[in-house]
Amino acid sequence: MVKIFIDPGHGGTDSGASANGLLEKNITLQIALLLRDILISEYDGVSVRLSRSTDQSVTLSQRTNAANSWGADYFVSIHINAGGGTGFESYVYPGVSAPTTTYRNALHDEIVRSVDFANRGKKTANFHVLRETSMSAILTENGFIDTAADANKLRNATFLQGIARAHATGLEEAFQLKKKASNLYKVQAGAFKVKANADELAATLKSKGFDAFVVLDGGMFRVQAGAFRTKQNADDLVARLKQAGHDAFVFQ
Ligand SMILES: [Zn+2]
Repeated sequence: MVKIFIDPGHGGTDSGASANGLLEKNITLQIALLLRDILISEYDGVSVRLSRSTDQSVTLSQRTNAANSWGADYFVSIHINAGGGTGFESYVYPGVSAPTTTYRNALHDEIVRSVDFANRGKKTANFHVLRETSMSAILTENGFIDTAADANKLRNATFLQGIARAHATGLEEAFQLKKKASNLYKVQAGAFKVKANADELAATLKSKGFDAFVVLDGGMFRVQAGAFRTKQNADDLVARLKQAGHDAFVFQ
């Protein structure tokens, strides 16, 4: 069992950074909850705890004490940056070596690969949560709340889902997490209330050489273009569909 401790930065009376109508504490919590849900619903052999799962005040010592006494294998602190700038950066404690650096590389590389953020680099800092944790730890800074372009992304629930999923995929690689057997990455190219519209899109996709079929799901006719065991294959299909002028996304 791999024990992942997720630490949504700030909370309660500590809002963290605030700008553009956004509070850091709310965004870090949203990402953390999404990450927890992905890890629990999609992977076997992983156990997750959070330093907070609501908008509450938690001291830095309480956070690291909770992870230490639980015996976590990894500590993931999620933050949003401020101070002018744009993009993603990650932190580990100065001078650490493998496996902390290996884990950081897995998360950092996946996040900059799959999230639309500039790569600000792999950094070190003497932060409490990196210093006082007895296990490997990372702190991620996911965009700048006081930069309009980043703030606009952070306002979007789908974008936050992408950040959470990238953290999860990085953890999958770092800790060799195993996907639950039934989990398939499906590619959806459209969803319609009227079946004829779904059939029309499926026919168009087939004429362009894609595999496509219509599934009735939750009252909507979804046009599904493929289902894969690995996210990479699904992402590749989404890229090909987008090149062909179709909107598409991966779901499970
Ligand atoms: Zn912060």
